[in-house]
Amino acid sequence: MTGPVLESLLVLQDRDSKRLSLESQIATIPAEMARVEKTIAAEKGAIETARTENRELESKKKLLETEIGSLEDKVGKYKIQQLGVRKNDEYQALGREIDTMQGQIGELEDRELEAMYAIDEAKKRFAAAESALRENIAGHETRIRLLREREVNLTAELKVAQAELASARTQVPTPAARLYDRLVSRGLPIVVPVRSAKCGGCHLKISSEAESAARGKGPEGELATCDQCGRIIYWES
Ligand SMILES: [Zn+2]
Repeated sequence: MTGPVLESLLVLQDRDSKRLSLESQIATIPAEMARVEKTIAAEKGAIETARTENRELESKKKLLETEIGSLEDKVGKYKIQQLGVRKNDEYQALGREIDTMQGQIGELEDRELEAMYAIDEAKKRFAAAESALRENIAGHETRIRLLREREVNLTAELKVAQAELASARTQVPTPAARLYDRLVSRGLPIVVPVRSAKCGGCHLKISSEAESAARGKGPEGELATCDQCGRIIYWES
């Protein structure tokens, strides 16, 4: 049983829920946008990390080369010195020095090889990070553009919905509108049908008085409410 007041409330509720749904859809957009931007930043970050890594390895390699170079110079000088030495023990002492340095050179060369290998790996990582961003960036940008469009469209829809809501409100008599406003803070729906003698909001059984009021047998123009949760109830035939 639905009278004109109830009809106006149902329209109000319908438009109110449309407004709420639009508002909540709009509210999700910034987080979604931030998520895409975070992904882009992470992909750019991976490139930067690989670039830095590469730079550090290159300078490590240069340092090793310099060390090797200066040791080789020393070995060269010792060898020349050795030629001028007459005493056997001096000759042997220089020989030992030369051996030690050549051992050091060998170690440094191993490390240089490791650095070169690491540089190759870092270059691969850099290339992979770069190509990942290149492949994904168009998708990311499209996603951001679509999100912006969506925000614009939803905002326009919300404007219309707000106007429709305001106009629906003018059709609701003041006492009913007050009751609606009081109830609405708990969330929609607050104008609910009665089915099998149960409130469509809280799903509890309603009293026979509430049921007959919902059937429209109460005083003229009076709204029936659930005696459990207070929602406005109506009989759905
Ligand atoms: Zn109820």
